[in-house]
Amino acid sequence: MIAMKCSCGKKAIFFRKYEGTHLCRICFCRSIERKFRKTVGKYHMISPGDHIVVALSGGKDSTTALYLMNGIVKPRRDIRLSAMIIDEGIRGFRSECIKAAKRFCKNLGVELHVFRFRDLYGKTTDHIMKKLNPEEEPCTYCGVARRRVINKMARKLKATKVCMGLHLDDEAESVLMNYLRGDLLRASRMGPVTEYSTTKNGGSLFVPRIKPLREIPEEEIKIYANIKKLDYYKKHCPYRGGFRFEVKAMLKKLEKKHPGMKFSILENFDKILPCLRKSVKYTEPKILKCRKCGEPSSRKICNACELWGN
Ligand SMILES: [Zn+2]
Ligand SMILES: [Zn+2]
Repeated sequence: MIAMKCSCGKKAIFFRKYEGTHLCRICFCRSIERKFRKTVGKYHMISPGDHIVVALSGGKDSTTALYLMNGIVKPRRDIRLSAMIIDEGIRGFRSECIKAAKRFCKNLGVELHVFRFRDLYGKTTDHIMKKLNPEEEPCTYCGVARRRVINKMARKLKATKVCMGLHLDDEAESVLMNYLRGDLLRASRMGPVTEYSTTKNGGSLFVPRIKPLREIPEEEIKIYANIKKLDYYKKHCPYRGGFRFEVKAMLKKLEKKHPGMKFSILENFDKILPCLRKSVKYTEPKILKCRKCGEPSSRKICNACELWGN
């Protein structure tokens, strides 16, 4: 086989199927950085005076998000950047992620805050999983609590934005999941910046989330993180599973046969989103404060408190 060349003349290391382009190491990295900046700019994700907290997991996606965000924010004096990581208490897994995150943040010179489920709920994900019924999804339990902790702690840190490591695959999966489940309300809350909720009565309890990696495929983030030798933890959570992974497998098959499919799912969703938001406007439940934890909720007791019995 002839070695394919990048348009700059150097040896290509990656073939971007959906564009039909061969890219060398340098041009590939540049294209990722360009895409990231473009997404941040296009959706006005950052503004002067912001305090951006990156929600780290210690994995490749959020580590890359922090690395790229730092590249944008570092030269600016009007924006503050820090990071947080949640310790759910998953033995042998999260402790390694936290070690990687600590090393990474130290090297980058970014302050890292660690919050523990044990301190906040009095129990860990490991405890919860032991009592989980086979028909219940582990990621639902953990995810609900994670989202609440991230929001609560972001408010405590006086963050104006939470930067998430969600990429194209995550977003395309979520679009399909909401569609397949018929969850219009949840779908209406997606999008590149979740500022929507903050404009509602009681919405000031939410810290807007930004997703600057949403137009970059997972595969490319992995390659980028490896080229840049970013310090991340490579293993997956031992509890990972459920509906999302069925959808993921389906998308993977489709994308292989029809390159660009994940992009078209997201692009089409973005076009429908304004209509979705309008359609739920009058039916969506009011935002209340959870009686137990004070976090925003559509019911008197929030999902996390109900699931975690807190
Ligand atoms: Zn090149
Ligand atoms: Zn609650």
